Amino acid sequence: MDLKSLIREIPDFPKPGILFRDITTLLRDPDGLRYTIDSLTQKCKDTFPEVDYVVGMESRGFIVGTPLAYQLKAGFIPVRKPGKLPAEVHSIEYQLEYGMDRLEVHKDALQPGSRILIVDDLIATGGTAAATAKLVQQAGCNLVGFGFIIELRDLGGRGYLPDVPIVTLIEY
Ligand code: IMP
Repeated sequence: MDLKSLIREIPDFPKPGILFRDITTLLRDPDGLRYTIDSLTQKCKDTFPEVDYVVGMESRGFIVGTPLAYQLKAGFIPVRKPGKLPAEVHSIEYQLEYGMDRLEVHKDALQPGSRILIVDDLIATGGTAAATAKLVQQAGCNLVGFGFIIELRDLGGRGYLPDVPIVTLIEY
């Protein structure tokens, strides 16, 4: 299935010079959605035979990560923007193109030794995924790998990630 044909490209969003890959058109397509989740599931089953939890980043990581966790018979753990999670959190600051941002996860969600797969819709510079990996590893979890629908290869994001397998469906 030609998934790229279902991904809309929006020039100059959210800033001039950025070509935004809009996956809402892929999610809206019943066959596209099913094929995306089924393909990611199969690739992840082949690459990561044992996953206890899928960790997904706000907000498109929730959309991809939850059905994937369900299919892998794993649990789902949300990583959120600051101030959204109600219980005690681990928090990490990370660099954006301009300025800093912060991600949080519930402390008691990350138990040492848990086998974790980190999932998001897209990897660009790798900053978001690298920060999430730090949260997971600093809590003593066993990071088994990463899964993304889309990888923007030219930005070299995978170079900032720990040395574990990375599964992707579409590359630009
Ligand atoms: P990174 O931290 O630079 O790798 O950016 C990845 C994060 O930004 C992910 O959470 C993506 O959802 C979001 N993102 C960056 N660029 C795009 C895009 O072109 N389309 C959709 N999401 C994007």
